Amino acid sequence: YEVKPTDLNDLIKSGAEMFGRTRKEIQIQQKLPMDLWPVDADRGQIEQVLLNLFINAWHAMPDGGDLVVEARNEFLDENDATPYAIAPGRYVRVSVADTGTGIEPAVRPMIFDPFFTTKGVGKGTGLGLASAYGIIKNHQGGIDVDSEPGRGSVFFFYLPASEKAV
Ligand code: ADP
Ligand code: MG
Repeated sequence: YEVKPTDLNDLIKSGAEMFGRTRKEIQIQQKLPMDLWPVDADRGQIEQVLLNLFINAWHAMPDGGDLVVEARNEFLDENDATPYAIAPGRYVRVSVADTGTGIEPAVRPMIFDPFFTTKGVGKGTGLGLASAYGIIKNHQGGIDVDSEPGRGSVFFFYLPASEKAV
């Protein structure tokens, strides 16, 4: 576990490019601001989180669709930070949006639990989101989802901005 000031633009760009190369049925759009704050992160672990979110988005769109990955700077005050059980302050928010199946409200409370999957025996391990949750929590960040059944999902996570430059 090696935490360093990390440029997420870089990491997202290469991750999305690699992922999109073999998945032509999915349109991938990147929205990355030039002035994104660096975050204190273990690069390999955040790559893992992003990849898990990309794979889930892809699974949710068996007939193709749009995947939008976005990063932006956000200042969270007391009220904004409380739902994610994180401290107020400067964060980078990364979101992965898909136009897939969405998540049923009955299933929503379980999706971050280890071994919870709706993908059937031998298909899903149910470990992708549990691992993502653990990694983001380790980084003093937060992760959550907004979803509408039949329309799609937006997974998003917050990572604390670094005090140092990359
Ligand atoms: P797995 O992908 O092995 O099923 P995950 O922990 O990655 O395990 O996800 C758990 C469950 O959350 C999935 O089985 C699925 O029901 C739901 N899920 C995760 N991501 C999405 C998504 N982008 N769209 C719809 N459902 C999702
Ligand atoms: Mg998964």
